[in-house]
Order: sequence, then C-alpha cells, then structure tokens
Amino acid sequence: PAEAVPQAPEDPLFGLMRAYKADESPNKVDLGIGAYRDNNGKPWVLPVVKKADDVIRSDPDLNHEYLPIAGLASFTSKAAELSLGASSAALAEKRVASVQTISGTGAVHLGALFLAKFYKVDGANRTVYVSNPTWANHNQIFTNVGLPIATYPYFDKQTKGLDIQGMLKALADAPERSIVLLHACAHNPTGVDPSPEQWRDIAEVMKAKKHFPFFDTAYQGFASGDLDRDAGAIRYFVEQGFELVIAQSFSKNLGLYGERAGAFHYVAAPASDATATTTRVASQLAILQRSEISNPPIYGAKVASTVLNDPALFAEWQENLRTMSGRIIAMREALRSKLEEYGTPGTWNHITDQIGMFSFTGLSEAQVAKLRSDFHVYMTKNGRISMAGLNTSNIEYFAKAVDSVVRG
Ligand code: PMP
Repeated sequence: PAEAVPQAPEDPLFGLMRAYKADESPNKVDLGIGAYRDNNGKPWVLPVVKKADDVIRSDPDLNHEYLPIAGLASFTSKAAELSLGASSAALAEKRVASVQTISGTGAVHLGALFLAKFYKVDGANRTVYVSNPTWANHNQIFTNVGLPIATYPYFDKQTKGLDIQGMLKALADAPERSIVLLHACAHNPTGVDPSPEQWRDIAEVMKAKKHFPFFDTAYQGFASGDLDRDAGAIRYFVEQGFELVIAQSFSKNLGLYGERAGAFHYVAAPASDATATTTRVASQLAILQRSEISNPPIYGAKVASTVLNDPALFAEWQENLRTMSGRIIAMREALRSKLEEYGTPGTWNHITDQIGMFSFTGLSEAQVAKLRSDFHVYMTKNGRISMAGLNTSNIEYFAKAVDSVVRG
C-alpha cells in the first residue's frame, strides 16, 4: 500500500528550525518558532516551574500510573477557572465539561473531532471560519476531521492592524450557525487583537447569526502580562450566554512546551437542562479521548496543577509572566526605536502596537529570503517574527539587517 503514499512537504516551521540549527554563522538569529527565550537566547525554565518540580519529585508516593480518561481533575478544574474566572456563573451552574488534552493542539483537535461528529445542521457539518491569516495548523486540524474551512478577513495590510469592518461583514454574511475560530488573545501570527469594544461588536454579530464560538487560547498572560485581562474576550462571550468551546494551552505561559499540558472545555448555554447537556457532552468527549490517546500525559499536568492550586506559587507565576511579557515589550520598543532612528523606509509603530509573542513585520517574502541568505536571520516567510528571539545582544544586528533589506 505504501506505493500510493505521496511525499508530503516538511512542516515549514519545523523545517525552519532545522535550517537554523544547521547554520554555522555566529551571527544567526532564530525568530521562527514561538517559544520564549531569555536575554541570552536560551530556553527559560520558569522559576515557579522549578519549584513545582521539586514539590512533585519530593512526594514519596510519586508513581507513573495512568491518569483517568479526562485527565488530572485538580488540573482541569483550575484550568477552567483560569479561563472562565473563579466566579464564573457557568462553573457555578455546572455547565462546563473539561478534558485534559495533548496541549493546545490536542485540544483544538478534540474540539474539531467533537464538532465534526455532533455539530450538524440539517444533517450536515458546518464550515469553520478562521482568521486570515491564522496559526497554520488550524487548517489541517479541521480539514483532517472533515470539517470545511473558510476564512474571514482579519489583518489589514495597510494599517498593519485589525480589519474589523471586513471581519464583521464576513461573519454577518456567513451562513447561520457557522463555527468561528477566535484567538482569545495575542493572535498568532499577527499580534493584533480586537479591543474590548470590537469584541462586543464581534459577539453581537455572532449572536445574531447564531454562530458557534471556538476559542483558541494559547497565550493567556502573554498578551498583557495579566491573566484575567487576557481572558476578557472568553469571559465576555460566556457572559453573553453563548454555547462555546475553548482549546487551552499551557505551553507558552508555563513554558511547558514539550510536556504537552492543555485542556479542552465545553461550556453549555445557560438553560434549565444545561447540566444534563454538559454531562452528555462529557460522556462523548470521554469516548473520543479513549479512542485517540486513552488518557493524557501526567507530568505537565502535575506541574500546572501544583502552580494553579497553591496561592503562593500562583502569585510567583504571575511574576514570571510579567518577566516574560515585559522583556518582549522591551524588545518591541527597542526594535521600533532603532528602525525609526535609522530612518528605515516605512512606518514601524505596529511593532509596539502589536502584542504577545509575535510581530507581523510587513516584510515581504523576498525580504525575508534576503534576511536569511545575507544575514542568517530565520523567520517565517509571511514576515512574522517571534519577538522572544530578540535580545540585547542581537537586536541591533537584526534592526540593521532589516534596514538593509528594506532599502533593497
Ligand atoms: N493555537 C495557537 C494559536 C498557537 O499559536 C499554538 C502554539 N503555536 C497552539 C494553539 C498550540 O500549541 P501547543 O500544542 O504547543 O499547546
């Protein structure tokens, strides 16, 4: 049968990572993958994660037993609280079903699988609308489970900000009960988020069209440094009474990338039978999970649970988040001011206007290629840079390289 298997292209992002590793230039700069780096360009184990690690490893009863199908309950319950707010009516009314997943990717996949199986209108699946552009993996995750994909306008190339009118119009024109994928905060790849007022407008259109919100939250705490503020959009939609789902990742905000700590949450709309609905949904999620991974990995969930359940560690985590988001903001300011100082053609305010891990620089594919061939700078060809790859040692080199390719 293997004769019929065509060669697939390498994943562009992981291909970029490989090329960077193979480059022997001492000047090379990695602005590809969205993983936090400290000012020395090194991965950063959050101090709070080291403490949680010590707590876990000093437990004499530590073992490697299976978790339940839905994962570590002390983790998923706090993860839901982190997203929805401790005083959430949805939690109090028991209309939230949570399942631990293989990080954010697994959560998006489980949600996609669930909707493909159960979310039908007149017997047919609905289209998933994703932002243009979006995290590249969204397309293949939804396509792989057979859900049709369409896009809504998002990034305005002129302003390098949000095309809110285009977005609202596309959502208004989409067939009723479409699924709409929304980045909860720190949009990947653009770094452009709707304002609270714009979120209200988005919710209003979606309510009028009975659309189904699918939130992807991979950067809570990274956008503003404030966990509650970064959950504002999700909490607003829940308050508005939507039935919705949330795919939640702890890769970035706890620096647990390879541990695959994440959760999927289903929130039922307020109704007298909402708890019963939630119980039914949970039972089906358990079957999907069992057939796919049986039960999720334990270590990352234990780390997250330890941090989320201990008030002192939780406070320290918030400090660590401010360290990460603060360094990224400082790099944004430094990059913008250098480009402005050099008089690099164009406007550079979007570098500081955009938030979160990434900046959508507006550099063309040709400029990105030149940065790589002439300056050993690695970034995705859509012009996205991971801000965390910049530090006080390489920012000037990078800014000069950008200046050079923009001048052509
Ligand atoms: N969604 C978005 C928008 C992301 O940027 C990412 C990470 N790149 C994820 C989901 C999932 O990441 P992970 O599976 O590592 O949690």
